[in-house]
Amino acid sequence: MSVIIGITPYLQKGRTEYRLPRTYVESIIAAGSIPYILPVVTDKRIISRYLDSIDGLLLAGGVDPDPLYYGEEPLPGMGEIDPERDYFEIELTREALNRPVPVLGICRGCQILNVVAGGTLIQDLGEGYFKHLQDAPGWYPTHNVEIEENSLLNRVFNEKIIKVNSIHHQAIGKVGKGFRVTARARDGVIEAIEGDGAVFSLGVQWHPERMWEKNRKFLGIFREFINSCGR
Ligand code: MN
Repeated sequence: MSVIIGITPYLQKGRTEYRLPRTYVESIIAAGSIPYILPVVTDKRIISRYLDSIDGLLLAGGVDPDPLYYGEEPLPGMGEIDPERDYFEIELTREALNRPVPVLGICRGCQILNVVAGGTLIQDLGEGYFKHLQDAPGWYPTHNVEIEENSLLNRVFNEKIIKVNSIHHQAIGKVGKGFRVTARARDGVIEAIEGDGAVFSLGVQWHPERMWEKNRKFLGIFREFINSCGR
């Protein structure tokens, strides 16, 4: 147990405190690794030093990325944005992909991965889509996802169709360079992307960290991530 995973926290409203649901930390520990929470900073030297200290990067969920980062103006359905966290995570992820350091992006983290790769987001899943912002408990899966063959997710789940939770109102639009779609909901919404490179880079739109206590298969995502982080 020597692999260290850096996890990005939220900035609390008012920006005076950091906050991270314990489920992220507990998932990393349950999968056999060591979690480091990386406070949001905007100094590039600190961001670079963070990457010297970790073996893998876990981008956690949170509020909506600023659409200016993917070349779009804000639409009325867009939610709250966090400018400091956007800057921090985009710099951190860009450098992680360049080094490369393995990256797992969850929900907002999946969207950040795509934006850094030059992709876009759908700012608000409205009419014509399923309900992706569930009112059911967080651990409870509410919609199906179809997994591509020859994907990392297929290796983890060994199933074509799985049920996932859904706690998002945005989703990936145009897929970023060097990534491909490996899971979709049946309304066409992209639910996972994987990098083409040899080093692990996976974004999932659902929240496996809230599911594995009820269904151990979801811990496999963290195990696969951590196995790829060995020095
Ligand atoms: Mn969904």
